[in-house]
Amino acid sequence: MTIPFIEPFRIKVVERVKLTTEEEREAALKKAFYNTFNVPAEDVFIDLLTDSGTNAMSDRQWAAMMQADESYAGAKSYYRFERAVQDVLGFEFVLPTHQGRAAEGMLFSTLVKAGQFVPNNRHFDTTQANLLVLNAHPVEFTIPESEDSSLIAPFKGNMDLAKLEQFIQETGVENIPIGMITITNNSAAGQPVSMDNIRQTSEIYHKYGIPFFVDACRFAENAWFIKIRDPKYKDVSVRDIVHEMFSYADGCTMSAKKDAIVNIGGFIAFRDPELKQRIAQNLIVHEGFLTYGGLSGRDLEAVAVGLYEGVDESYLNYREAHTRYLGEVLRQAGMPVYMPTGGHAVYVDGGKALPHIPPSQFPAVALGNALYLAGGVRTTEIGSLMFEHTDPVTGAPIFAPLELLRFAIPRQVYTRSHLDYIGEAAAKCMRDADKIRGLKIAWAPKVLRHFMAKLEPVD
Ligand SMILES: *Cc1c(COP(=O)(O)O)cnc(C)c1O
Repeated sequence: MTIPFIEPFRIKVVERVKLTTEEEREAALKKAFYNTFNVPAEDVFIDLLTDSGTNAMSDRQWAAMMQADESYAGAKSYYRFERAVQDVLGFEFVLPTHQGRAAEGMLFSTLVKAGQFVPNNRHFDTTQANLLVLNAHPVEFTIPESEDSSLIAPFKGNMDLAKLEQFIQETGVENIPIGMITITNNSAAGQPVSMDNIRQTSEIYHKYGIPFFVDACRFAENAWFIKIRDPKYKDVSVRDIVHEMFSYADGCTMSAKKDAIVNIGGFIAFRDPELKQRIAQNLIVHEGFLTYGGLSGRDLEAVAVGLYEGVDESYLNYREAHTRYLGEVLRQAGMPVYMPTGGHAVYVDGGKALPHIPPSQFPAVALGNALYLAGGVRTTEIGSLMFEHTDPVTGAPIFAPLELLRFAIPRQVYTRSHLDYIGEAAAKCMRDADKIRGLKIAWAPKVLRHFMAKLEPVD
């Protein structure tokens, strides 16, 4: 048999979706000020806006939720959650939060002061924003290969180690309260980070006495890529790879809405009990008591089971192949797909797809809107609408390195025929690509502007 992949599950519950007409979608897009974040989900046929919290949970997760303990303090569900984090990730201490950005907010507001710097291979939008609101500076050193969307290399999410070390020496350790790495590198096309790079990043931070935290949202997919792309790890289990990755770190922030395959939840994990105490103060004020952190017992149960299901190798094998298949379908539809495809999403180079639209007119947003009109498929831009900022010295705009359109794939939700349908919509949209117009901002807030921006087509 030569089928490209097979789902290692069968479907027990279904949710009906409605295919709208092109006229209805045109009206919906206009009403949404040309920003698909503002389009009601009911008007979307296939929703690839994000893989965050959009997962289908398993029968085991739902069964565990029925057994949840909703006690305010010390619930049984908390201890099951804590044991799963300790067992799968290997950190002794954990604090639950309602999602990943709250984990970041708790960690940064405890450790980071105004004017300080936090390095990362690349910050995600929420990590960046959580630093900016503290008047701290997010800085990034993903290897330059990540900016070439056609270069085939196994670990394009890696940290540029020489640049990181140079930055630390020039900036001074007293100005760097914490160092990070993001696995997989979501803002750099979901590319994985190699084990060697995680270890060496850790060695550099630790040489200068800087605590090292992993943004761990897609740790399981990153571990799978290490297994299939680094020959040294081909016979090592994903569980062992995960343990080794985290063994180099002092802690992690996690959005459970990703690789723990749930709809809501997150946590901060660490080895230092004293740091846990300091963050706990903050947690009680903003999220909730130490043993629930803004989540219900049900949520904690779903995470506890999901952490194990997320590192299951037959699931990860399917997950990577499913994503790669969508990449192939989009390439055949004529879209310039970022290569190689990542774990949770396919990224299309919007700048290459629509060379007549400059970064200041958001080509990837324009492409995403055209795709929505063509087939009711919703995606999101990871480009200059999300990441443009001004040079602190010259005041000139700095655009994102690439104008990417992200097709994020909810876990265990869409079948292969959904992916083929997306390919047809993409082909339709590419046939008239030269007619797609750029966009300008009519209104936008200062921080995380892409979520709420109102846009209009340029003439
Ligand atoms: C989703 C995500 C976050 C934030 O998590 P939320 O649960 O959405 O708050 C942080 N970092 C990365 C890399 C992410 O993908």
